[in-house]
Amino acid sequence: MNGLRKRRFDVLVIGAGGGGLRAALQLGRVEASVAVVSKVFPTRSHTVAAQGGINAALANALPDDWHWHMYDTVKGSDYLGDQDAIEYMCRAASQLVIELEHAGVPFSRQEDGRIYQRPFGGQSQNFGGEQAARTCAAADRTGHAILHTLYQQNIRARTHFFDEYFAIDLLSDEDGNFLGAVALEIATGEPIVIEAKCTLLATGGAAQIFRTNTNARINTGDGMAMVLRAGIPLEDMEFFQFHPTGIAGKGMLITEGARGEGGYLVNSEGERFMERYAPNARDLASRDVVSRAIATEVREGRGCGPQKDHVLLRLDHLGEEVVAKRLPGIRELARTFLHIDPAFTPIPVFPTAHYTMGGIPTNRDGQVVVPFSHGPEEPVPGLYAAGECACVSVHGANRLGGNSLLDIVVFGRAAANHIAEHLKRNRYHLPLDERSVERALARLSRWERRGEGESVAGLRRELQQTMETYCGVFRSEEVLAEGVERVLALQQRLQDAVLSDHSKVFNTARIEALELENMMEVAVATVCSALARKESRGAHSRIDHPERDDEQWLKHSLFFREGRRLDYKPVRTKPLTVESFPPKPRVY
Ligand SMILES: Cc1cc2nc3c(=O)[nH]c(=O)nc-3n(C[C@H](O)[C@H](O)[C@H](O)COP(=O)(O)OP(=O)(O)OC[C@H]3O[C@@H](n4cnc5c(N)ncnc54)[C@H](O)[C@@H]3O)c2cc1C
Repeated sequence: MNGLRKRRFDVLVIGAGGGGLRAALQLGRVEASVAVVSKVFPTRSHTVAAQGGINAALANALPDDWHWHMYDTVKGSDYLGDQDAIEYMCRAASQLVIELEHAGVPFSRQEDGRIYQRPFGGQSQNFGGEQAARTCAAADRTGHAILHTLYQQNIRARTHFFDEYFAIDLLSDEDGNFLGAVALEIATGEPIVIEAKCTLLATGGAAQIFRTNTNARINTGDGMAMVLRAGIPLEDMEFFQFHPTGIAGKGMLITEGARGEGGYLVNSEGERFMERYAPNARDLASRDVVSRAIATEVREGRGCGPQKDHVLLRLDHLGEEVVAKRLPGIRELARTFLHIDPAFTPIPVFPTAHYTMGGIPTNRDGQVVVPFSHGPEEPVPGLYAAGECACVSVHGANRLGGNSLLDIVVFGRAAANHIAEHLKRNRYHLPLDERSVERALARLSRWERRGEGESVAGLRRELQQTMETYCGVFRSEEVLAEGVERVLALQQRLQDAVLSDHSKVFNTARIEALELENMMEVAVATVCSALARKESRGAHSRIDHPERDDEQWLKHSLFFREGRRLDYKPVRTKPLTVESFPPKPRVY
């Protein structure tokens, strides 16, 4: 590989969202040399868009306890979450939020000066009792506050940033140790080999595979696709969260915090319909429950607007002052995209693709783990994952609002702690298998072909539409089977696609092509896993198998790219120190 730029670090972190930055910060403390690669400027990562807040049982507003948080998370996951990981996360939550506060996150405050906490969906006191208030918020811009703080702290810790570099594929040696990645400098189109003693993937979610979504355009599941190409399976990809309140027809998120502050949903008859679906929790039932309720109202003809295709979120009874103080970002969004002021006019909403519950299988230490040829799980040497791209699994079949910002800081830190140990045992860089470099570069050169043919942008739109139609809120055997065929056909067509001769910004077009290849991989994993799971659990709702089936399906799916094979592994129902929460019917 003569002439190729090369750099060496102890650790390569791919992704500069909250997960990657929390890990990098922790590594700064052990004097490791850390490179963070991000395809956008770090503070533009999707974490910046998180609105509602981060969960921790601080009990500032109402009584609370991490055991209750754990119970809610297990129940929210529809019992598919691994209870050891959930215990670990809920126990660590308060400490990590206080650490964020000390690092400089400007949380909103109560009268007494303590961190402001709002009620969020699926939260209860005392194992299923009264509504809890567990979500620590910086107005409705919590992610922004966290990401900027973590970035500043990383600058102070002298983390090395490769801003606007696109990671193409992972590198390894002949024994399967993961040793860095090939990345592309977006501005110049020049590839670079970044060698490391281990690699942490923190590349975020993949909701861009759906047409209507809340995610940034960059959330294309690159890390997940890299892992699939490296022969490692993805876990629980059939579980995709549709957030109940996206701006209808556009998809931008109206935070659950809006309902936490007292907002509620109505149908065309002005009825507060959530009372029928979730008599106790009502508008603050779990997200999967509220999304299905909205989709059902619209399907049964009680939708609002000329097309009867959405419902309304009312905030107009809260008073202008509350909206201005607690939901300023929402007000701005509604003004910008709908030209309405939600303090006076209800917001048209409909479910929108939001969060990837599945992902790269990891343990509590952030190590990527796979069952090798049906044996017990083993860590993949040198490879870690944390944040939305990973599946620990703390969210199981349905994530609770406010638990993802928590997940990224808890497991970003945990991965870094394990990496610090890995570095003690692995003092030297291992020699790369040059063939892994060649394979990554081949992905790049494939997109140098120009000329006439199908466009990447058109295929991207078709993929997103196909996923929305064939793998949406409600699913069935017939529809999913057709979805699989259609997505595979699109993936095939992408192999023959070209960058148009006219594309002026060649490098950007090439990045979009590489991203679409990744989206295709993730979409195939998602529809295939959804077709295989013949039950309804959490966000995966099969009209042909409407019940949860704990006998057959209390297990995680593992999708392998090779042969599009599915395998399964048991849910870890045993927590670390407390008694486990056995599956029960899930009512709100
Ligand atoms: C609109 C919105 C609101 C939300 N609100 C909340 C909330 O209130 N509370 C909550 O708990 N959760 C919320 N979430 C979810 C939560 O914000 C995310 O799950 C979490 O921030 C993901 O963090 P991350 O570090 O895993 O990834 P991200 O923040 O998505 O960062 C991914 C990083 O990977 C980099 N990257 C990806 N691919 C490549 C590549 N090929 N090469 C180089 N770099 C790459 C990107 O540049 C980026 O830096 C919200 C999500 C959305 C979309």
